[in-house]
Amino acid sequence: MNIANRLQQVEQRIGQAAIACGRNPAHVQLVAVGKTHPVNALRQAAKAGARIIGENYIQEAREKIAALADLSISWHFIGHLQTNKAKTAVRLFDLIHTVDSIRLAGELNKEADKIGKRQDVLVEVNIGAEASKSGVGAGQAIDLARQIQAFGHLRLRGLMAMPPFSDDPLQARPYFAALRELRDKMAASLNIALPELSMGMSADVEVAIAEGATLVRVGTAIFGQRQ
Ligand SMILES: *Cc1c(COP(=O)(O)O)cnc(C)c1O
Repeated sequence: MNIANRLQQVEQRIGQAAIACGRNPAHVQLVAVGKTHPVNALRQAAKAGARIIGENYIQEAREKIAALADLSISWHFIGHLQTNKAKTAVRLFDLIHTVDSIRLAGELNKEADKIGKRQDVLVEVNIGAEASKSGVGAGQAIDLARQIQAFGHLRLRGLMAMPPFSDDPLQARPYFAALRELRDKMAASLNIALPELSMGMSADVEVAIAEGATLVRVGTAIFGQRQ
């Protein structure tokens, strides 16, 4: 199977999962995760209908974005973002999924201000409280969100998480539910709309959609194994 076929298959999975839980498939967007895959593979995906591409590494993304400038792609940043890359990130990405500290939020705000942009961001939550993972702790997320709201050049859109790894997609379900509940609590306590939940990957798209995912981040199921 080629990339276009696999993309279509993933889109079918998304559509069926949304319908199965009574959601509108249009409310779940696919972020095709391109990390380590060549520009040519990304071009095939975009030509086959992928509208959003997610990248994890700033330098790699910069090169791919330049090489694919002729296509209309919305680029999302989904990797761990170092503060010293904030300047490049606000110039390249429509949505940054991984804001996990006040310091990073402050840098993004400052750099967005310089170029007259309002940067859309998500707060990344370490929903499984794993030592090895980035993301703000669930207990600190509302405080961070409140501080982000106070920055005039950021617009908080929702939450992102990566649950603990498991071979069984169903194991992720309580973490997805916890992220949704945290989002609901945050939206109520800050009195803002937080429409986006970035959760679900190749193996567990269906489970994430059943728990309210609006952005699913899929790499392997579209592009094959990473080297
Ligand atoms: C690599 C990556 C994905 C995609 O994972 P697959 O299992 O290949 O679909 C999703 N989200 C993040 C943050 C990633 O780094």
